[in-house]
Amino acid sequence: MTTGKSDNCAPPGETLLSVDQGRQRILDAVDVIDGVEYVPLLDAPGRVLAEAVVSAIDVPPFANSAMDGYAVRSADCSGAGTRLKVIGSCFAGAPFATELQAGQCVRIMTGAPLPAGADAVIMQELVTRDDTGIRLQAHRPGAGEHVRHAGEDTRCGDVVLEAGTRLGAAEIGLLASVGVAGVQVRRRLRVAFFSTGDELTSVGNPLAPGQIYDCNRYALSVLLSQAGAECHDLGAIADDREAVRAAFRRAGATADLVLTSGGVSVGEADYVTETLRELGEIDFWRMAMKPGKPLAFGRLQGARFFGLPGNPVSVMATFYQFVLPAMRKMTDENPHTPLVLRVRSSETLRKAPGRAEFQRGILRRDAQGEWTVTSTGKQESHLLSSMSKANCFILLPADSAGVQAGELVNVQPFCDFA
Ligand code: AMP
Ligand code: MG
Repeated sequence: MTTGKSDNCAPPGETLLSVDQGRQRILDAVDVIDGVEYVPLLDAPGRVLAEAVVSAIDVPPFANSAMDGYAVRSADCSGAGTRLKVIGSCFAGAPFATELQAGQCVRIMTGAPLPAGADAVIMQELVTRDDTGIRLQAHRPGAGEHVRHAGEDTRCGDVVLEAGTRLGAAEIGLLASVGVAGVQVRRRLRVAFFSTGDELTSVGNPLAPGQIYDCNRYALSVLLSQAGAECHDLGAIADDREAVRAAFRRAGATADLVLTSGGVSVGEADYVTETLRELGEIDFWRMAMKPGKPLAFGRLQGARFFGLPGNPVSVMATFYQFVLPAMRKMTDENPHTPLVLRVRSSETLRKAPGRAEFQRGILRRDAQGEWTVTSTGKQESHLLSSMSKANCFILLPADSAGVQAGELVNVQPFCDFA
């Protein structure tokens, strides 16, 4: 639920950037990192291929049966009553040595190589078996029936996967199917991150009065690992000019990307933007989005820098909308089309025009089987439980003045960020 109060004004002389403008500027500014490495296949999930992979074999490597049944010469099968002599059995992994002659067939199992001379497989349910042979019922198998042809999945010389492909289960399996034991991938992005705030305590310590647990660093650590990054957790840094400066120096020394949370608003103890101006470059820092308006983006030594807001929901929303696309570009991943679905809102959603909102929603099927979205409830950006209850963002454009129950809205499922 939004308060409806207008908090959308930029300070004088400063314009708010739309989410799309902001993302585009970020993508224009970041470069692909140098460095590729060879990794064994099982170390490759989540990594991005640095070169295309070409298959050196056909898959399947030989014609084989798609069914348990009988390998036949289709020309022999004139119709019901046709009798064929069974001359042996053919199992997966064991080629059949003898070529099939007219009037002969071979018992065959799924995956077994098709014997020479055979060109079709008839399902065992469609024949009658006796001691020495089979008798066809009404069905006449055509040439190629229930045969998996050599190279039907992948041909020798085919590009199996393009450079820029992020490797998941299907890709790793596909690479294994063509006999590839390891691949050249982009090296992992080195990401240094820290939280800022005098109020922050880390888990495992008791809470002193006025303190809260630092949850951003934990959420960020998971987001970064899931995105395949090498994480350098620099801890929680006090709101102290020198401490923030020291953390910036440490972070910028080795990282490709530096992320901070907190300290980018205009509060008196917010040193992040000030320090970035001093030690690096700051490009912009106000987005027409909610949550996540204050966002610093810039450069720190050799690294790109994002100063994320302090509130935990804002951290996750800005990570997904800005940091993740930047990380994808930096690792040279092929462009990703966001998964946006148009579904009915089951309830009224309140919103004031001004900033694009990423409300937390629960996407589910209603009693009629239609996909609908329901709000998780209160939408303030400190309510991290709203992210945990949600399975999608409800995307409300900047000019929207709210949504009536039953109207169509765009949603972005969280699985899009996996
Ligand atoms: P700031 O931008 O530093 O003013 O922080 C905005 C809000 O987010 C404040 O209520 C902070 O206490 C809170 N916050 C900042 N950093 C964290 C963190 N790491 N974990 C949880 N809450 C935080
Ligand atoms: Mg703070």
